[in-house]
Amino acid sequence: MKHPLTRESALHLLARDPEQLRLQAHAKRCEQCPEEEATYLIMRIVSYTNICVANCSYCAFYRRPNDPEGYVLSDEAIFKKIDDLLAIGGSLVAMEGGFHPKLKIDHYEKLFRSVRARYGDAIEIYGPTIVEVIFIARSSRISLEEALVRLQKAGLRWIPGGGAEILTDAWRQKLSPLKYSVSEYLDGMELAQRLGYGTTATMVIGFGESWEDRIEHLEHIRALQNKTGGFSSFLLWTYQSDNTALGGSRISNEEYLKAVALSRLYLDNIPVIRASFLTQGAQGPAALKWGASDFDVVLEDQVTQKAGTILETNVEKVLEWVKAAGITPKKRTPFFVTSKG
Ligand code: SF4
Repeated sequence: MKHPLTRESALHLLARDPEQLRLQAHAKRCEQCPEEEATYLIMRIVSYTNICVANCSYCAFYRRPNDPEGYVLSDEAIFKKIDDLLAIGGSLVAMEGGFHPKLKIDHYEKLFRSVRARYGDAIEIYGPTIVEVIFIARSSRISLEEALVRLQKAGLRWIPGGGAEILTDAWRQKLSPLKYSVSEYLDGMELAQRLGYGTTATMVIGFGESWEDRIEHLEHIRALQNKTGGFSSFLLWTYQSDNTALGGSRISNEEYLKAVALSRLYLDNIPVIRASFLTQGAQGPAALKWGASDFDVVLEDQVTQKAGTILETNVEKVLEWVKAAGITPKKRTPFFVTSKG
């Protein structure tokens, strides 16, 4: 498939007037969503455990096994969080944890089965990221395929794109060497797509990576999308640096917006680019004019909150930000139409 942007032309575009980049990305975004509209849903990220042995240098959330602050949420605690989400019109719960060494595949089967049994289709579930599923499979001494099939039978339908961070092996080594290589990540996502899971793609920026590194990441996602058509959306967010071993500082919203625009143009084979209000807060709506056409109102995300994010959980207030930018927010269901139909 021929694409409008190559690695070289992307760098060239980035060197030009940012307004040119914005206008091109906005025009592309308006091909699939009216200019004066953006879609959204209300969700929360439930971190069912904070015990993790992955040791990511950018993470302020995890606790090592035996740490007194470590926890595993009970089913009742998870149900309460979902009940609260449903009560305010939420429709998506992302259930993510870390690399917990003692939780095996049967724990996750029981978890997803119990959520699906209690809520049916009233709530959609984003499950563990593919790196977590690889860890679960290996610690349960089963293949990745068996783990994915068993989770699917327990009611899971989505593997979200988290765990990608920056898809270059050099950055993976620096940020989270235990979180598998680029090819293991991509092969895992391809397998999930082949088995019929819905998937999303993500990228996290602001670790100090170059534009070339970001373009390499986009290139991997675009190539896999050409092969499978399995990604329904792409979400870009920024590294939050408080309380982390890696340290550093946050990148500017201007740099974030340029990256959103670049993503919209580079990933011309992915239907929806999502803006991260989670990390960009009240500056998030600007991204809806730089190539993004969708956003989440997020009630909870322990991982970024521990690293300094202050979430706005008043849904009406978040929608007012969007309206103030001249855009009408349209609530959507969690089910994107993918290129698979
Ligand atoms: S980002 Fe996730 S996998 Fe990495 S240390 Fe934190 S909880 Fe563990």
